Amino acid sequence: MARSQPRILILGGGYAGLHLARLCATHFSRIASITLIDASDHWCERIRFHQLAAGQELPRYAYAQILSSLNVEFVQAQVESIQPKERSVTARSSNGNLQAIDYDYLVLALGSRIVAPPGLQSMLTLNDAAQAEIIHDRLKAISKPKVLLVGAGLSGLECAFELAETYPEARITLADSGRLRPMNQPGGFSREAIQYLQAAAERLGIDWRSDSRAIASGNEVVTFADGTTEAFDLCVLTAGFRPSPLISAAGLEVDERGCALVETDLSCKGYPEVLAIGDCAAISTASSGPLRMSCAAALPAAMGAVNTLVARLNGELAPEFAFHYVFRNVSIGRHDGLIQFVSSHDIPMSEIWTGRKAAEWKDFICKCTVAELGLGEEPLMPHEPPQNIFPGLLAMQKLYETPRRSGEMRTEHGFTTG
Ligand SMILES: Cc1cc2nc3c(=O)[nH]c(=O)nc-3n(C[C@H](O)[C@H](O)[C@H](O)COP(=O)(O)OP(=O)(O)OC[C@H]3O[C@@H](n4cnc5c(N)ncnc54)[C@H](O)[C@@H]3O)c2cc1C
Repeated sequence: MARSQPRILILGGGYAGLHLARLCATHFSRIASITLIDASDHWCERIRFHQLAAGQELPRYAYAQILSSLNVEFVQAQVESIQPKERSVTARSSNGNLQAIDYDYLVLALGSRIVAPPGLQSMLTLNDAAQAEIIHDRLKAISKPKVLLVGAGLSGLECAFELAETYPEARITLADSGRLRPMNQPGGFSREAIQYLQAAAERLGIDWRSDSRAIASGNEVVTFADGTTEAFDLCVLTAGFRPSPLISAAGLEVDERGCALVETDLSCKGYPEVLAIGDCAAISTASSGPLRMSCAAALPAAMGAVNTLVARLNGELAPEFAFHYVFRNVSIGRHDGLIQFVSSHDIPMSEIWTGRKAAEWKDFICKCTVAELGLGEEPLMPHEPPQNIFPGLLAMQKLYETPRRSGEMRTEHGFTTG
């Protein structure tokens, strides 16, 4: 006799979790019950939060509406703990009620947040849309504001460029504990790319302070490790992304950042029924090396997770998740940008795109992610990508061809096919 449907529970409705919910709906809607929990009632484009801080409007999409059309149950609640041994999750809904939700398969897609180190806790961040809007409100309220951004990673750079373009009267300082150098290593930029970013910062009047580690902030002054200080009207911490602390608290194996360590099929060590994807997972593939926290990795990882779930439901061996880096995007306001083409291991190639062409490509990529989540039209590709990245693009495309449809599912494990 057939058992009841397997319960797939997804924690977190960001790029990874929401994409996975859609994929699960396509593959299992008639053979499994699918539930997504998120603390928020809506999804908003996180990769454009610097634009929100600059006063641009971003649409919000209600989870209840998106998910009901997919036949996925939505629970708006704050997950408080995960009990992998009991196959249960505890979550608190907005009315204060605590509920236990049991699962057969759990997918952790709880993302990351900037966590301020001691001494810097008073700084604003781009952690959510509400904080981005506070940044905008403060900027509007002060004439010639002195803005200090701490952390010149990709989001710090994009934020500095966006604010400098929107508020030319603001004095913007971008401080970083390191120094951007040409680096023939994963995550690095080519010499030409760095020169372009530095020239853009100079043109926009950004004071880029390298080798300046902020150690304390208070009374509108930041103190750096070398003893120097910088006064500000508005200070935003743009570095220090950390995964959800719930993962290590659950007793799952984690890396030094607290990201869930996963097998090649994205399942957590020792728990084949628990998968982890997106920023909260420490994923490394043979074809790419370790994945950076990024939307670019979160969406394909959702695809990898659905492949594993298909295999689990069929009682088969799950395929190895494969990933290839292709390029990295940096927006420089709305009309300029930098695309650094990279090897499959994220090592910079000599080829870069700059100017309007890069801005259009970055906008195209953002629109592609929204389309991927079923929330927008598939955009037209504005420019033909360079020939030498085609192998990487084709390899990524293959990932999307592998899973089978629910009609092909076997039933010997007792799950009904509907
Ligand atoms: C300004 C900015 C620009 C960026 N630009 C780029 C870019 O150009 N390209 C790129 O690849 N990446 C970019 N990123 C990084 C990218 O946004 C993240 O890597 C991506 O959002 C990760 O997706 P995710 O689904 O893992 O997590 P998230 O998008 O963080 O989603 C996690 C979800 O989990 C929910 N959640 C968390 N904890 C709980 C809980 N306890 N209970 C219930 N729900 C919970 C959250 O509400 C959220 O909806 C940018 C980030 C920022 C901040």
